[in-house]
Amino acid sequence: QLLAAKNNKHLPSITMDGREVELAANIGSPQDAVSALEWGAAGVGLFRTEFLYMHKNSFPSEETQYAAYKEAVERMAPHPVIFRTLDIGGDKALPYLEMAAEENPFLGYRALRLCLDRPELFRTQLRAILRAGEHGSIRMMFPMVATLDELRRTKQMLREAAFELGIARLPEIGIMVEIPSAAVLARMFAEEVDFFSIGSNDLIQYTMAADRGNKSVSYLYQHLEPAVLHLIAGVIEAAHSAGKWAGMCGEMAGDPQAIPILLGLGLDEFSMNAPSLPVARELVRSLSYAECRELAERALKCRTVEEVSSLTYR
Ligand code: PEP
Ligand code: MG
Repeated sequence: QLLAAKNNKHLPSITMDGREVELAANIGSPQDAVSALEWGAAGVGLFRTEFLYMHKNSFPSEETQYAAYKEAVERMAPHPVIFRTLDIGGDKALPYLEMAAEENPFLGYRALRLCLDRPELFRTQLRAILRAGEHGSIRMMFPMVATLDELRRTKQMLREAAFELGIARLPEIGIMVEIPSAAVLARMFAEEVDFFSIGSNDLIQYTMAADRGNKSVSYLYQHLEPAVLHLIAGVIEAAHSAGKWAGMCGEMAGDPQAIPILLGLGLDEFSMNAPSLPVARELVRSLSYAECRELAERALKCRTVEEVSSLTYR
């Protein structure tokens, strides 16, 4: 069955009634690009760049980063690679980065907050990604964006880095929508980005105030929670109203129970762990977009996660 599923990688990810979506892979190193392609990824929807920074004694140089990013870009070409800038700090400590102990690391000094506070560190990564972009197709997105001010400061730094490098054309820029404030203001954010990628892992955690790794509260941490679905619906709608596209790169994007609803809400891109791609493709190809839209409408009327879960397609 797995073999049969893997064989579908050359078939388009299109519903029976003609709605095509992009099925992309999440990767964590340039080597992962090889298996992403084997599993039929149409691109990389999330490149977690943390690998270069972990298990080291110091921050990786621009050249080290450039070489690794270029390798991923060249392997995936002509497919696009979406680079997510450094999402470190908080619970993910670096041995060489001194950080004050925090009572709530998930609500603390991490990701873009840290990068904006350490511009020399951020600039190095931005330059390395921009340079890698000269070898193929790249997009860039920023993790843990909470405010428009953060986005604007980030874009300003990116423009400066591109100017220094003599790169005239910036890649498409997006944000991960993984903090509820960004989802709530999605209409405003949509005017200032090229795309959204919904980080459901964190978006659920912050919306439900339930630690994504804490089993004692896992009953609250559910893909199909109505509050989560309403936020996602608003984000996709905001993107489309502004003529932009919306994807998702959290685990939910590869969840066969969630896919028909997400498709019905209009999600344009699904990025997941590569081995989930064949099943997702088979599922998309078996669905009707019209019926998924109707399913999504019913889902948005549900009041409990149980009600959403018991909905059936058709
Ligand atoms: C997410 O939060 O959904 C996400 C994809 O990022 P990470 O899992 O790396 O936090
Ligand atoms: Mg996240």
